[in-house]
Amino acid sequence: MIVMKFGGTSVADEAAIERLIAIVRAARQAAIQPESLDWRGPIVVVSALGGATDKFLKVATDAGLGETAATAESLRALRQRHLDVARVIGSSDERPEVDLFINREFDELDRLAGALSVLREVTPRWLDAIAATGEIISSRIVAAALTSHGLAASWVDARKAIVTGPEHTAAPPLMAETASALATTVDPLLAERRIPVIGGFVGASRDGVTTTLGRGGSDYSASIVGACLGASEIQIWTDVDGMLTADPRIVRDVQVVPHISFGEASELAYFGAKVLHPATIQPAVGQNIPVRILNSQRPQDARGTLITRDRPPTDRLLTAVASKKGVTVVDITSTRMLMAHGFLAKIFDTFERHRTSVDVVTTSEVSVSVTVDDPRRLPEISAALREVADVTREDDMAIVCAVGDGLQRDPTFVSHLLEALGGIPIRMVSQAAARRNITLVIREADLETALLRVHERFLGVPA
Ligand code: ADP
Ligand code: ASP
Ligand code: MG
Repeated sequence: MIVMKFGGTSVADEAAIERLIAIVRAARQAAIQPESLDWRGPIVVVSALGGATDKFLKVATDAGLGETAATAESLRALRQRHLDVARVIGSSDERPEVDLFINREFDELDRLAGALSVLREVTPRWLDAIAATGEIISSRIVAAALTSHGLAASWVDARKAIVTGPEHTAAPPLMAETASALATTVDPLLAERRIPVIGGFVGASRDGVTTTLGRGGSDYSASIVGACLGASEIQIWTDVDGMLTADPRIVRDVQVVPHISFGEASELAYFGAKVLHPATIQPAVGQNIPVRILNSQRPQDARGTLITRDRPPTDRLLTAVASKKGVTVVDITSTRMLMAHGFLAKIFDTFERHRTSVDVVTTSEVSVSVTVDDPRRLPEISAALREVADVTREDDMAIVCAVGDGLQRDPTFVSHLLEALGGIPIRMVSQAAARRNITLVIREADLETALLRVHERFLGVPA
């Protein structure tokens, strides 16, 4: 049985959902062939309609600022968009029920936004409740659309299937509890030969409070579901042909990488390849489930990227280069402890306590530099460290991460990489123990040039 996850652009409008239906139909037909080893599934995981999550989150922020008119107008437009997209269901019996469901969800949101405007405060709990609506409704629409197009599907409420910790906006999944919740909600549907459709990104705590797995988290939902139910493959259907050699929004002549390893995929996702949520690979690794990235706009023509534990060797040392903007470098210079015992522990413990995750780290005798994506808690972190260190920050930085299992073959690669950058100032350099990646921190203003140079030198089309 396979899990098929469709991202925002793959469910953005009626035409996209029609393509999704054709893709799921082909998978269903393959599953029921006599030679198929498993007639169950597929299981479908969907994102919110393209761009909807940003809009829902804006509603929450506006409500918190007391912008009642803007909030009401955004909710009206969102309601209409969902009702319009629901036309893909056609004239079947399912349609009035789905329209009613959409209207109820939006009536509820109107009330909630009204209350938040009065309180002038939006807590993470309410952010999650509002953002989750996107996937709750999109999955309901897709389930009904599949059924009305002759593919018996059933909607699964993600709040009853994905169990998470109580934290909001990036809740950690509780795998054992999720496995048993999925056994109750999804297994019986598979046994009845129905296609379960579940909203990604969304879960609920043990107490039943709605949570989300963090932005881009529908990929993660798909791999959680796949790992808990022992899927044979997890497919991520998106708007590009697969894992590309660089971010296509920055580098034009990118190519698809046909096969990458779990390790390479994790590094690329972690350092900015948005096509995969950074945690996606983790559940798949445990069960050794292949992951495939596919283009929902070109299901026949594009072969996608296969991700498995190992990949066949190639001549290339580098597989792809990932990048991230909006990074802050924090320099922590020891005033008294001069790298005394426990200094590093105190630093990392301080970041941990303030729930700020650190990406790249470099050290010298008297200072430690780290990068963070989210600098919101830096004032508190600096205050906590002041007793032992001076803390300074530099914003508008970027990470470039060169990734390839092949790097292990050539310990001189780092020198070629630096040479290719041709004098672009480098703020930090880090080479991982597994030597699968070399990470550089540079100024954001230099990112485009740096990527173009690295791509042209190591990843360009061979002459
Ligand atoms: P979805 O809505 O399907 O989850 P996302 O927008 O989250 O899609 O991810 C797909 C996007 O990731 C692509 O459109 C592309 O612009 C971006 N991207 C960044 N780096 C890469 C890369 N190395 N390979 C493929 N896509 C990438
Ligand atoms: N809809 C969510 C987001 O935009 C989750 C996802 O699409 O993966 O972040
Ligand atoms: Mg995504």
